[in-house]
Amino acid sequence: LEAIVAEHRDLPAETIDGQSISLQINAGLNIEHGVEQQGKFDGIGLYRTEIPFMMQDRFPTETEQRELYHQVLKNFGDLPVVMRTLDVGGDKPLPYFPLREDNPFLGWRGIRLTLDHPEIFLVQARAMLAANIGQGNLKILLPMISSLEEVDEASRLINQAYFEVRNELVQKQPGKELARPELGVMIEVPAILYQLDEVAKRVDFFSVGTNDLTQYLLAVDRNNPRVASLYDPYHPSVLRALTHIIETCNELNKPVSVCGEFAGEPGGALLLTAMGYRNLSMSSQNLDKIKWIIRNVHTSTLQVLLAQAMKAKYPEQVRRVVNNKLESLG
Ligand code: PEP
Ligand code: MG
Repeated sequence: LEAIVAEHRDLPAETIDGQSISLQINAGLNIEHGVEQQGKFDGIGLYRTEIPFMMQDRFPTETEQRELYHQVLKNFGDLPVVMRTLDVGGDKPLPYFPLREDNPFLGWRGIRLTLDHPEIFLVQARAMLAANIGQGNLKILLPMISSLEEVDEASRLINQAYFEVRNELVQKQPGKELARPELGVMIEVPAILYQLDEVAKRVDFFSVGTNDLTQYLLAVDRNNPRVASLYDPYHPSVLRALTHIIETCNELNKPVSVCGEFAGEPGGALLLTAMGYRNLSMSSQNLDKIKWIIRNVHTSTLQVLLAQAMKAKYPEQVRRVVNNKLESLG
């Protein structure tokens, strides 16, 4: 099987009937891994900046951040790199920034923390913008957005960072222009599902974080073994949320990708493609497998699969439908 999967590795990700799907990878530190696989994917759909922060024993300086981000942007040449602003708190603590909360997943995490510490946000935004000089493939993504105020405030800070970096650049190299990267928002807190139209007016793209979306929609801690069996992206309500998102984004004409683990699971990738998602971002080790699956399905059979899956009332039924399809593929 490995050999068959390998044969498809360098071919485009498109269904039998020619529908192409853009496959991207999620990265944190493993940027070298990505470089080895270049030519096999279309970009970095999620660069988790908190990972290098977690490896240190203090906040990285602006210069350290700029050098790291520049390296990442350069490694991938012309491919787009979606850098997410710091998403700590919840399950991702910083050793040098202790948080003690009764409900960390409902607490101070992601954009909430960095907007309360605008100096952290500004330093990071400046480092990203400066790292993009001479590159131009940066996109910025905001985690854990639950309200328009957060989008507005983050945009304001990115604007401020933009003018600061531009002024410094123009002083050093008169006539030089600073690129303005696209801005995107993670769809991972259920509240934002019902304000997608307003968020869409403020940003360039969306990225669905199925890990947190599943956790918050089902009120199940994604890391608590006691309730692990309840954590289930195949829950019919999660599937309905995901169809709502793709339909709304298509209506609004706003690009959307999926960067949660569901996109890198065979069953998840099938369902998401069937729903109409055309951009999937996953850990690099899932890339070959997902590409092989996409290359072996026809969109008309995906429509049948989706209709059956959406009729299911229990997660187990959804799994059965999806697994039957996967078995028929081999
Ligand atoms: C997600 O929540 O699905 C996601 C991609 O982000 P993280 O797993 O880093 O929270
Ligand atoms: Mg998340």
